[in-house]
Amino acid sequence: MPMSTITNNLHAVRARIDGAARRCGRRPEDVKLVAVSKAHPAAAIREAFKAGQCVFGENYVQELIAKKDELADLDIEWHFVGHLQRNKVKYIISFIRCIHSVDSIRLAEEIERRANDRIDCLIEVNLAEEASKTGIPPAGVKELAAAISKMEKIALKGLMTLPPLSADPERSRPYFRRLRTILDEINEKGIYPQRVTELSMGMTADLDAAIEEGATIIRVGTGIFGERI
Ligand SMILES: *Cc1c(COP(=O)(O)O)cnc(C)c1O
Repeated sequence: MPMSTITNNLHAVRARIDGAARRCGRRPEDVKLVAVSKAHPAAAIREAFKAGQCVFGENYVQELIAKKDELADLDIEWHFVGHLQRNKVKYIISFIRCIHSVDSIRLAEEIERRANDRIDCLIEVNLAEEASKTGIPPAGVKELAAAISKMEKIALKGLMTLPPLSADPERSRPYFRRLRTILDEINEKGIYPQRVTELSMGMTADLDAAIEEGATIIRVGTGIFGERI
């Protein structure tokens, strides 16, 4: 797509964030925008970066590494948002800022084993318990959070979810509420020694509802880069 489109799209997404935050009395700057660039070329990321976006999310380790090398001259904050296989942790751990998709104790243990510095992580929750999706079922979240609390290299920051696909963004809202409830429970019960505050939820179609329900991180792909080819 023409590069100016990416710049325009970014402005439009930021306007949506502003609008949604204002509607519910939140500050737009309390919502972090992760631009999900999977399946889009490094040149598209470069353009978004020029337009002021410096946080990018990728889903596939190989693709991420290639783009990271190509964009080494930019000070990009990389997030990993896709399913992470344990044997791939070692390839990204040195430069990734936040892993959104920790969904098992074994994956957390591998991150703990490989990390040099402390790394921010989110627990991915499969709220609808869809067989096709990764993420830990809600019943397992507290045990995983408790296990992570004993690890030195992982800083648990919050939770992430991807609600079931639906044409109607309002269908996502109950899932967003539920994720927030689980986060509140972790804090009320003191399952993790620090307060966990991040809710990574909301994508192009449903980011407005997500912000209204308390999202602190939204992950937007199509709305910025256009359809994936
Ligand atoms: C692709 C993807 C997104 C972005 O989705 P869009 O609908 O294109 O905004 C967000 N989060 C995850 C985990 C993704 O895989």
